[in-house]
Order: sequence, then C-alpha cells, then structure tokens
Amino acid sequence: MDAAVFSPPASAETKTLKVALLGAGNVGAQVARILLEDADALAARTGARLELSGIAVRNIDAPRDVDLPRELFTTDASTLVRGADVVIELMGGLEPARTLILEAIEHGATVVTGNKALLAVDGPSLYEKADAAGLELSYEAAVAGAIPILRPIRDSLAGDKITRVMGIVNGTTNFILDQMDTTGASFEDALAEATRLGYAEADPTADIEGHDAAAKGAILASLSFHTPFSLEDVHCQGITQVTAADIAAAKDAGFVIKLLAIAQKLPVPAGNDNGGVQAGVSVRVHPTLLPRDHPLAAVHGAFNAVFIEAESAGELMFYGQGAGGTPTASAVLGDVVSAARRLVLGGPGRTETTTGVLPVLGIEAVTTQYYIGLDAADQPGVLAKISALFAEHGVSIEAMRQTVHRERGPHDDGAPGSAELRIVTHRASEAALAATVQAIKGLDIINSVTSVLRVEGV
Ligand code: NAP
Repeated sequence: MDAAVFSPPASAETKTLKVALLGAGNVGAQVARILLEDADALAARTGARLELSGIAVRNIDAPRDVDLPRELFTTDASTLVRGADVVIELMGGLEPARTLILEAIEHGATVVTGNKALLAVDGPSLYEKADAAGLELSYEAAVAGAIPILRPIRDSLAGDKITRVMGIVNGTTNFILDQMDTTGASFEDALAEATRLGYAEADPTADIEGHDAAAKGAILASLSFHTPFSLEDVHCQGITQVTAADIAAAKDAGFVIKLLAIAQKLPVPAGNDNGGVQAGVSVRVHPTLLPRDHPLAAVHGAFNAVFIEAESAGELMFYGQGAGGTPTASAVLGDVVSAARRLVLGGPGRTETTTGVLPVLGIEAVTTQYYIGLDAADQPGVLAKISALFAEHGVSIEAMRQTVHRERGPHDDGAPGSAELRIVTHRASEAALAATVQAIKGLDIINSVTSVLRVEGV
C-alpha cells in the first residue's frame, strides 16, 4: 500500500505544539517517555510535532521509573503552563492541580488530565470555564485507566439514551473480592495480599471505603446523563464489612460479590417535589451481588470493566486495565493526539453537554433485590415468623435457605441451637428493606443480622 496515503499534509507537518507535563510519577513518567520515544509516529498521526517543553515536579532529583532528560525538569509549574499549547496534568490531588488547570485555560491551552479526585469535586466548573474559553478539557484516564470509556459515552453513544452504567472501576477492591471468592480468604488476608503485590497503597482507605470508585461514578454519571454530578451526590459504601461467609454464601447461591459504581436513570418517587421532572439519576457505590453468568462477574484480579445499558445499543461492555503507569499513559496520549489534531485542523473544542435537567435521586429512590444473612435460633416457627415480618413490610421473598450448623445444634440444657438463614428478596425499596431489617433485629429468635447486600444484574 502507498505509505504517502497516510502522511499528513506537508504544511501541517511543520507545526509544533508545546506540551507541558505536570507530574512525572507512575503515569507522567510514562507519558513523557512515549512523547519522546514515539515523537515521529505521534507527529504523523497528529499533523504537528508534540514538543515536550518541560516537566513540573516537586523534587527534580527524585528517582524516576524512566530516564528522562534532566533539563526538561522544573519546579516552576506556573511558568511552564503559561508557555504551553497543551497542558497534561498528572500531579493528582486538588491543589495546585486546580489552580494550574485554571491558569492553563486562562492562557488558552488545551488541558488533558487524569485527576478523578479533582474532577469529581470541581469537574462541572472546570468544564464550564474551558467551554467558555472555547478550549478542550479531556480526561479519559480519570476513569478506568486504559479503557476507552468516556469517549464512547460522550461521542459514540451521543445519539442514544443511556439508562444504566455499572462499573468495576477500582482494581484494588476487585482484586480483594476476587481473592476472597477464588481462595476463600478473609478480607484482611486478601487486603494483605493486595498490599504485598502492590495493588493496594500503604493507606488503602480511598479504595476499600469506595471513595475512589465514587469519584469515578460521579464522572461516569455526569457524562452518561448530561447532568453535572459531584462526589457528594454519590451514595458510597465500601467493602470492609464483606466477610468470607458473605462471599461463600453468595457463591453457594450462584452469585459473586463485586464493588460496583452504578449510575441509573429512575422515575422520581411519588411525593418528591422535583418541579414536574419525571426522572432522576441515582449514583451509588456498594458491594453488589451479581449472578455468576453476568459479564461483569468474569472480571477477575485487578481488571476494570464498565457495563452500559442504552435504549438503542442495548448492552455494551468495556474491559481492560484500570490502572498502571503505561496503560493509563495510553489513555492520556489518546486525549493529547485527539486535542492536538483539533488544534492543527481548527474548530472548536469538544464541549460537555450538560442539559442539567435530571435531579439527583438519593438511595431511597432505588429499588433492588437484597440478600440478607441472618443468624437465628434453630426452633420451630422461626421461618414463619420471619416470612410474616417481610410480608408485613411489603418485601417479598424470592428464595430462603436455612443451614443448621451441627456444632451450634441444641444445647445440653435444652436451649435451641442456631441456624444460618440466607434470604434473597424480590425488588424492594431501600426504605421498606431498612424497616424490615430493623423489625427483624427486634425478634427474640434472631441472634444477629450478619449481612445486607444489594443484588443487581438479574
Ligand atoms: P504519582 O505517582 O504520585 O505522581 C505525581 C507526580 O506529580 C510526581 O511526579 C510529583 O512530583 C508531582 N507532583 C505532585 N504534587 C506536586 C506539586 N505540588 N508540584 C509539582 N509537582 C507535583 O501519581 P500518578 O500515580 O502518576 O497519578 C497521577 C494522576 O493520574 C492522578 O490524578 C491519578 O489519580 C491519575 N491516575 C493514576 C492512575 C495510576 O494507575 N497511577 C490511573 C488513573 C489515573 P515528584 O515526583 O517530585 O514527587
């Protein structure tokens, strides 16, 4: 085939775009490496040379994964930003990242970032500022690392209506839950293994408490439903309470437990005053029982996947590496090339379409099936009493299973032993379920409610 067919126009080839990189950590160092190593290929794809004009860091002498020219490094991020056409922000955290992105926009630079923490808090105001300046702010790397998910939602599905997005968007928690599922390990042992293998940070709080997934959930929801959502709109529950017994019981019943970020369009519950708006969006992160034949159930180890349901497209799944320097750099470079092409060819930046009409619905608007584990007295009439209580609160039971533990069998003094009850309900509201669980806790035949988990995908 004629290679000339793929060459950019000669005039465009001569253009140079100055690229400022903020941060040279796990991701930034790989982005710098690719910009330098693949300069010719990137120029051919872009129609302009992407000149790495500098790299801002805290400590110029810090050891790096990649050997990069020392003269590129600076601690003066602000000056670097002011001379750039494209600014790549890979510092992380809220400040100084936010101020530097604003400075970049003020100076007319296109911005690429992977900073989910910042976008989940301040995304809408930053997109608005970029839009107002006619500039592009892209952030494919902020959700699910290497997986191209934001661009398909924003561009490929722009003519469709998304109804639900369910994502495994945190590799650490997926690794832990997968370890527990495949080896029977406890949460603590699986976390220790994740730390040993480098999947979990020294302080794993943001991962195991669901905060990282919640930030990504807010970003996914905003793009999917054309409405700005922030971190505080996300109902968030982590995986620290998930026990080996929960995992085993779920497995026994044909389910796997995953930490999902779910953004879902729902009818506004009766009685909610939303100015006549009929639908809203609930955004939530919580451990979820999925049938073992659901596509997301096959996502093992530290991998990520996002499952989308749309009115016309039906079901779609995007799968891949959700973190890591080089995989994440791939997403960053994709944004850089795309933005640079636009700078070469002209035309306005891609803007966010935030119609802003869908209200945020709290967790009380959600109806799901529930899995409930109970430790109850092993005596006649227990099942009838529990069933009656569920019926009284309008929650219907789909399946109930009782396991009597021999070691916990009737005591010598005649006191009843205990039995484990596992109940899967039909769809019920959060309020009805909470009232049922509260009432169950008050029964004298109940020793404890061992777990309450939501079920999706059935
Ligand atoms: P990292 O390894 O901690 O690197 C951060 C870099 O930013 C370091 O080079 C650091 O400089 C520099 N930096 C931090 N604060 C600075 C400041 N005040 N002034 C100047 N430089 C500063 O972070 P990372 O893992 O590469 O992540 C970067 C971003 O990508 C984050 O927003 C993260 O959420 C996102 N992301 C990461 C991954 C991943 O797999 N790691 C995946 C998706 C998205 P020094 O080197 O001098 O300390």
